[in-house]
Formats: sequence, structure tokens, C-alpha cells
Amino acid sequence: MKMKRLGALMLAGLMAISLTGCGSSSSSGSSEKTYIIATDKTYPPFEMENDQGKLIGVDMDLIRAIAKDQKFKIKINSLGFDAACTALEAGEADGVIAGMTITDERKQKYDFSKQYYETGVSMGVKKDSGIKSYDDLKGKTVVAKTSTAGLAYAQKIKDKYGFNLEVVEESTFMFEKVKSGEAVACFEDTPVLKYMIKTGELDFDTPCGNENPAYYGFAVLKGENADLLKKFNKGLANLKKNGQYDKILAKYE
Ligand code: GLN
Repeated sequence: MKMKRLGALMLAGLMAISLTGCGSSSSSGSSEKTYIIATDKTYPPFEMENDQGKLIGVDMDLIRAIAKDQKFKIKINSLGFDAACTALEAGEADGVIAGMTITDERKQKYDFSKQYYETGVSMGVKKDSGIKSYDDLKGKTVVAKTSTAGLAYAQKIKDKYGFNLEVVEESTFMFEKVKSGEAVACFEDTPVLKYMIKTGELDFDTPCGNENPAYYGFAVLKGENADLLKKFNKGLANLKKNGQYDKILAKYE
């Protein structure tokens, strides 16, 4: 009887050990590695919340599908664009996917994946604003988002066209300023404006077309995380081959 109880206890103990053993080995060593991925807040159609509060969008679907394909885990931190870059530089994130434009300047600080989406910058104005060209911006207030390609473009043409430039943290704030009339125009990525106009989220026009054509890439800190970059590129190539990449893009057209 005594022996039996001891046996049962030992068995329970062994089971507990093997259970915890199982748990800990899945978060380290031989099994899947977890990477922290920083992203923007609301940046449709690349990152946005659905009705259930889940982050969806081209970037979110891509990184999840790539992680699955390449057998790694991810933790997504939705921080805002500038904050995502800061987190990467501070070592608080392993990678950034945030509708991030590949530029020569950024290549000094980051290593980029293969390009995965075509982009550029457009001026967004309210439909009834009467702003038809950059000349119409003279003496007016224009808004752009900190650290972005849109801001860089606005800064470049600001003096030539004589407008005041205001800088905000998030695209949502930028659109609110244009909607309320605090600013007459914003400079934002063309695919974002086009998508939000199409879905009816913005009653805007893009009268001047696409400037600075470029591409989005996934970024890691320069010289760091070559492994993650390699996995991203491999996964992306696989998704392109197996049709998943096209499916993801089609979902958000
Ligand atoms: N594509 C732009 C850039 O890289 C904006 C990115 C964003 O706001 N998420 O600067």
C-alpha cells in the first residue's frame, strides 16, 4: 500500500517535470524562436484593427504567414511609425514592418528585406478644398507625420511653394487636421490615401499624383538579425510561389 502511494507520487512528480520540461523547451533552444516585431498604429491597408480589435492588414498577414512558413514566432508591438523605428534602434524590437519605405538614407541604419509593395507619396486634400496643385498651398498649413517619407517630401518642396508645415505623430491625427480644416493638405503614402479614399474613410482627392516612387521593405537594425532577415526573404519568396502573397494583397485591394 505504502509502496503503491510512493509510486503514484513519483509518477505524478515525473509527469510534472516532463510537463514543465515541455513548456520551457518550446520557448527556447531547439524549438521556435520568438521575434519582437514593431509596427505602426493605424496605417490602412497595412496595419489596422478589425471589429474584434485584431491587427490585420497586408503587413500583419504577411509577417504572420512568413513566420508560419519559416517556423518562428512573433510578438507584434503596435507602437506608431517613429516609435517603431526608435524601438528597433534601442534593441527593443527585432524587426519593423510598418509600410516602411526603403530609402538610401535608411540603408545607413537598417538592413532591408526584398521589397514587397510599391509605394510613393501623394498630397491628400479634402474633396471640396479647391486645392489643385502645389501652387495653391502658398501661405497655407500643410501637415505630415514625423519621420516619414511624406514629411521628407513636404520639407523638400515647402520653401518653393511657400507653405507652413506642421508635424504630427500619427496618420490619424494628420487626417483629422485636414478634415477639420486646420490644414489644407497632408503628404502621405499613395497606397494609404488611395485605400482610405476607396473605402470611404477619407473624402479626399490626390490631385497631384505619385511622387518619389519607391518600395516597402521589412527592416532590421544594420548588421543585426541577419537570421531574421533571411527568414523573411525566404518566407516571402515561398508565399510568392505558393500564391499566398497574391491572396493577401487581393484581400486589401
Ligand atoms: N512609408 C512611409 C515611410 O516609410 C510611412 C510609413 C508609415 O507611416 N508607417 O516613411
